[in-house]
Amino acid sequence: MEKVALITGGSRGIGRACCLSLAQRRYSILLNYKSNDAAAQNTKAAVEALGSSCELLKMDVADKADITTKLEGWLQDNPDKVIEVLVNNAGIKKDNLMIWLKDEEWEDVLNTSLNSFFYITRLLIKPMIANKFGRIINIVSLSGIKGMPGQTNYSASKGGIIAASKALAQEVGRRNITVNAVAPGFIKTDMTEEIDEGAFKQMIPVRRFGTAEEVAALVNFLSSKEASYITGEVINVNGGLYT
Ligand code: NDP
Repeated sequence: MEKVALITGGSRGIGRACCLSLAQRRYSILLNYKSNDAAAQNTKAAVEALGSSCELLKMDVADKADITTKLEGWLQDNPDKVIEVLVNNAGIKKDNLMIWLKDEEWEDVLNTSLNSFFYITRLLIKPMIANKFGRIINIVSLSGIKGMPGQTNYSASKGGIIAASKALAQEVGRRNITVNAVAPGFIKTDMTEEIDEGAFKQMIPVRRFGTAEEVAALVNFLSSKEASYITGEVINVNGGLYT
């Protein structure tokens, strides 16, 4: 069976770095993205330059029906492949104080992170059990641990994934499947481009924002056989920010 790593939101930022890092472990990459075709093609080319294969899976993870059609379809079309590593990374933020938060700002953020975690992971657990090995890595956030004002929606989505990861880890541990959450602090990506690093870095003990590669390095380790005894954990990659 060909071993595949599925990275949601793999076209840019942390997801892109995860694609490149897992390609170096010889995984075939299944790169999910929503709409940025140019970025997805660019990451695909970078993965291929490392000698791995990369297939694009354009799918809106916030849309349950799209997941059913595209990911279930992929599973049916590829009985010779097994998704051994799942990185639930796709996420968005739509910040607003709760008093002003619109229904769609709440729903879009919850659908993109928390609900996609459920619908995608549920589809992949059975094949991982049959494979007798699986790695589920969920990209959460400092916001899901301590809560951030202006982010009740985002904090709820990430906090929900953290709790679900801990529960699922207990369900599938004996199947040789681990489930962990990685909680980045401030990482330099498109998501944080409007945040002034100069103003915020004073509160970060290492005095800088992190890189997507620094998050991907942990994802890579958690996906390895060496990480077999780590499950149900939330690991911070935040330069020492107090959580
Ligand atoms: P970016 O905004 O740089 O990239 C987001 C990625 O997610 C893109 O590949 C985008 O695809 C994809 N995506 C967004 N919505 C969907 C969707 N509905 N369906 C499929 N793909 C989607 O984000 P980051 O790399 O910064 O963030 C990655 C994860 O890390 C997120 O979950 C975020 O919450 C988390 N995080 C980030 C931090 C940071 O400081 N950057 C801090 C803490 C957590 P497309 O290219 O098509 O738009």
